[in-house]
Amino acid sequence: MKFVIAVDCEGPAGVVGAPGGTLNDAPAQYEFARRQATAEASAAARGLFAAGATQVIVWDTHGGGVNLVTDELDERCDLFHGANGGRLAMLDRTFAGLLFIGYHARDNTLAAPLAHTFSSTRYQWIKLNGREVGELAVDAAVAGAHGVPVLFVASDDKAVAEAAALLPGVATVTTKIGYSWNAALSKHPRRVLREIEATVQAAVARRDAVKPFTLPGPLEVEIRHKRIDTADEACLPVYGWKRVDAYTVKRTIQALTDLF
Ligand SMILES: [Zn+2]
Repeated sequence: MKFVIAVDCEGPAGVVGAPGGTLNDAPAQYEFARRQATAEASAAARGLFAAGATQVIVWDTHGGGVNLVTDELDERCDLFHGANGGRLAMLDRTFAGLLFIGYHARDNTLAAPLAHTFSSTRYQWIKLNGREVGELAVDAAVAGAHGVPVLFVASDDKAVAEAAALLPGVATVTTKIGYSWNAALSKHPRRVLREIEATVQAAVARRDAVKPFTLPGPLEVEIRHKRIDTADEACLPVYGWKRVDAYTVKRTIQALTDLF
């Protein structure tokens, strides 16, 4: 039984960033976030190995993909890291499940710490066939195209609600309750590790109850930018987007992979 744990850095316990920028613009918070993301990924891996996993690949997804503290990661894991390697390029239909650690709510979500969709400075929202999606939905659909279900999500309460609506039957751990883009009531970062390990182990045992999430093409993609100049740029002929209004552009793609 092989698994992939996709790891972002905004969703772990104790992470709220600071006003005026991204997580990376708050150095002390970023430094804590990458350690806690590593610890939460290791906790999930312990649950997977206890449930009979034969391989666990940890995918470092935040920014340039070199965030996790490798020598603190459970040494039974393999690590997929670095930039421009594609979304879930290491996953195929031989995998039993995908897990999300440290993911965050999509942009346009109230009281969700560090909520964004791929870029907090660039996009207000992204819709696929009229439905707002975040990184959770997109990566779940990439795995779903291989027939691989999402078994587990650990994040703040808004991202957990987003995942539960999208992925019926998914097991979840709430790491913190969001109060604003930069405020949360967090569980203690060490206590949440035991909860993740136990919940992941139980989720593997009932994995047959969870269906892969799919977004079959053709897909109408609509993106609302936060600035008019980046919408202008998207509509240059080389990129192929059509204008809807000053901030919004759209185009039709045949498969989700065409989005990247
Ligand atoms: Zn991130």
